[in-house]
Amino acid sequence: MLKIQVKADLCCGVGLCVKGDCAKVYQRDDLGYNSSDGQTVPEGLEEIARKGAAACPETAIELIETN
Ligand code: SF4
Repeated sequence: MLKIQVKADLCCGVGLCVKGDCAKVYQRDDLGYNSSDGQTVPEGLEEIARKGAAACPETAIELIETN
């Protein structure tokens, strides 16, 4: 399983992490910041999660393998 870690100090609310199908994995709060910190990536959406993390220009998203 993959756990989402969002570095709040790096996230600047650009929103590229929720473009297209990446919105199935990541959500943003009312101010536009990624609010998915601590969530587990739903089964089968791992590649989408990696795509969204890679799209973040601030490298604010880290995906951690858990068992
Ligand atoms: S996680 Fe990255 S792409 Fe998503 S809102 Fe924050 S800075 Fe923007």
